[in-house]
Amino acid sequence: MARKIGSRYTANQILGRGSAGTVWLGEGPEGPVAIKLLREDLASDQELVGRFVQERTALLGLDHPHVVAVRDLVVDGNDLALVMDLVRGTDLRTRLDRERRLAPEAAVAIVADVADGLAAAHAAGVVHRDVKPENVLLDMQGPLGPGGSHPALLTDFGVAKLIDSPRRTRATKIIGTPDYLAPEIIEGLPPRAAVDIYALATVLYELLAGFTPFGGGHPGAVLRRHVTETVVPLPGIPDELWQLIVQCLAKAPASRLRASELGARLREQLPLLAGMPPLDVDSPDAESADGDEAYEETAEPSAPAARERRGAVPLVPGAATDSNRDTHTSMRVPGPDELAGGARGTARAPRAAGAPRPGSARHRASARRRRITLAAAAVALVAAVGVGTWLATSGDDAGATPPDTKNSAPASP
Ligand code: ADP
Repeated sequence: MARKIGSRYTANQILGRGSAGTVWLGEGPEGPVAIKLLREDLASDQELVGRFVQERTALLGLDHPHVVAVRDLVVDGNDLALVMDLVRGTDLRTRLDRERRLAPEAAVAIVADVADGLAAAHAAGVVHRDVKPENVLLDMQGPLGPGGSHPALLTDFGVAKLIDSPRRTRATKIIGTPDYLAPEIIEGLPPRAAVDIYALATVLYELLAGFTPFGGGHPGAVLRRHVTETVVPLPGIPDELWQLIVQCLAKAPASRLRASELGARLREQLPLLAGMPPLDVDSPDAESADGDEAYEETAEPSAPAARERRGAVPLVPGAATDSNRDTHTSMRVPGPDELAGGARGTARAPRAAGAPRPGSARHRASARRRRITLAAAAVALVAAVGVGTWLATSGDDAGATPPDTKNSAPASP
């Protein structure tokens, strides 16, 4: 059913629902538009409405081929709406869910587009603060680019900032999506442009690997990993591309590249990546395809529930899982003790495809097989040495019985 939004727009059909509201396919004086109608609790917040009007100029001023343009802001009775260009296509999360991993050329082309869009926003003094695959739209009507990818546009600019009112998120609360949150936000610093670079590097890693570098389990565990763990290389990734990812995932914001440089450096990589298939890596926590890693042999008590989602394994036994992909509007900044209290070191290493997860049933079974093989080899060696020694000491007495090799066998494993 159609509904009027302000005096100029009609919302005709729901395109999708997000954390801040519902997106409608609508009609305006200049043709079709997408209308994001903010959630009622947000729309009734007077302080937020004030900020909405204040942010008007910054939001409306962003015009770039890789940014979904906001054309109008409507405050009408209980309705608070952003009117945007309509992008005919899909969001990057939907594509990633469908394909699991993207070929490096397509992944890099998409992320380079987003980096260009961010460069324009950062130049205008706007920080996105919630870069993630859900907020990247792929324009299926645009021309095909490298790796057969459609142009990518970043959407939801300014929404995190709108929601982030001082009342809603006191000094100790943070807004964002746990998997993509830069360490400095978790440590309580104000979000600057470099937080978008960190989030975008996380997206690139995710497009290549099929999972985020620090995700999985309870949001608190994810936040701690961002601060304390280092990212481990993905098997098969070209070194130069890997160096870009590492630099942009640096814990220190000043060490990360700027958006314009990241876009340019990624585009330089494209010719080298042409024709390369998606990387062949398994999620560190995923079940193997042959399904022989039985749940009962896992060390984590809540693992079966946790495994309903990709990569979701609590660090602390029994810890509850949560969605790390939604924008969280009231996360608490963890204290220094909490951040230091967890496992330090390197994030869980991805395994080459087919390799068993350390500690899993399949890993233990293959270790058992290796021990049996080694023991058998040792038996054979001892037997051979025994026979050799007997031959050497028995001189010409070739008809004598060889010694009993059973007693020479080592203890079984
Ligand atoms: P989220 O909060 O998860 O980022 P959004 O509220 O931004 O989600 O969007 C919800 C859905 O609406 C998404 O599936 C997205 O594909 C669609 N959508 C958002 N903006 C547009 C747009 N400008 N044009 C077309 N579809 C859009």
